[in-house]
Parts: sequence; structure tokens; C-alpha cells
Amino acid sequence: MIKLKKMITKSNYIVVMTGAGMSVPSGIPDFRSSSGLYNTGDNKNISPEEILSHSFFVQYPEKFYKFYNTKMIYQNALPNIGHKTLAILEKEGKVKAVITQNIDGLHQEAGSNEVIELHGSIHRNYCQKCGKTYGLKSIINEKKVPKCICGGIIKPDVVLYEEALPAEAIENALMHIQKADLLLVIGTSLLVHPAASFIHYFRGNNLVIINKGKTPYDNFADLVINESLETILTENLLKVEDM
Ligand code: ZN
Repeated sequence: MIKLKKMITKSNYIVVMTGAGMSVPSGIPDFRSSSGLYNTGDNKNISPEEILSHSFFVQYPEKFYKFYNTKMIYQNALPNIGHKTLAILEKEGKVKAVITQNIDGLHQEAGSNEVIELHGSIHRNYCQKCGKTYGLKSIINEKKVPKCICGGIIKPDVVLYEEALPAEAIENALMHIQKADLLLVIGTSLLVHPAASFIHYFRGNNLVIINKGKTPYDNFADLVINESLETILTENLLKVEDM
């Protein structure tokens, strides 16, 4: 772990890529892990991928929202020490951007400013008819399908299956990765593209992967830490300033 501290101390342009594992200590289950969302639920005949697809949303908005509101939104989740540490490292000028696959908005809540959301955010919702925007409360408080005052159906600004990732976010993410001297990958198994392929754009010195399970990129990494995020970030990164 001293190795990680040294890498951070020496780096001036740290870019962080985070996945579901980042928010697990905040009580949000990992989307794809064995104990996560994908292996539970009452929609046994329909896969979560199907429910969270664009065509399902269009065809069965009520069923979509029933699943989305109960399985995807964790209103009481708070940023954990990991989110907070990254925000501190940004304030110190070390971290230049956080690229996240998460839709929970916890990086911003912790104080990170440069957050690139590849899959959108539960906090942004818009009317499909007139474009009016709505916060999370308008979605949560609605028993059936949330509708705009104009009558249009409100859609979360979250990237569903069959939908393309926002081009601007990808462009921005790659711009930062190409400039980075340290790429810190946290809590993602790096199985989801294009996020996983972003690694190929990295030209810096050190690639660090912090993830409980193995990833296909472990062999390319300068440092792989298979421990829980809390242990790493609490005991180590926060003490960087004391060195
Ligand atoms: Zn509207």
C-alpha cells in the first residue's frame, strides 16, 4: 500500500474510473456481482437487462418504473469514505477527473467537481415530449408512470440497454485518460465496454486496479489491489498528505 501512496505523491494528473464497487460501501448493491441485483428479484422470467432496455421502457413504462424505483434508486445512500477521499484528492489538485459508470450521483455529493457520468444520473429526468427537466423526487413520489405537466412521459437521464452512451462524456473521458499519469480504476470488473476499452488510451506511468475480483486487465496493471475499498481508502489514501 506504500506503493500506492508513492504513486499518488508522484502523480500530477490522476484520473479515476469507478464502477459499482465504489458505491457498495454506501449500501448500493453491485449490479452484476453474484449477490447483486442481477441474481435477485421477482421478475424471474425477465432479465434485468431486458427491463432496463429502451424498448421495454417504451412498451411497459409502468413495469419499468416499478423495477427502476425499487432496484435502481437508493435515496438514502450517502457518499462513503472512498468518494470523500477522491474529492479531497481533487481539491489537492491530484485528481483531475472521475469517470464513473455509476448513476447515483455520490461523487458529486461527496464534493467532486469534475465527474464524467458515462451512464447518466438518477438525479436528472426529462419529459420525452417537451424536454422539461425533473429531479429525483418527481420520479420517486409517483406511484405509476411519472408524467410531465404537458402529459408526456418522463424518462430518467440514464443510459438504458440499446441506447448509446453520451458522445460528449466519452470524448471528455478519453481526453482526460490520454493526459493522465496515473489511472486509478476502482470497483469495476472492467467487463463493460466501452468503459473497459478506455484503458487502451492510457499512456501514463501507472495503472492501478482496486477491485475485489479479478479483471481482464490485471496483467497490464502496475498495481492490483484485491481488497475492499474502505480498507484501502481509509487507511492509506487519506494519509497521503501526512507523508
Ligand atoms: Zn412535457
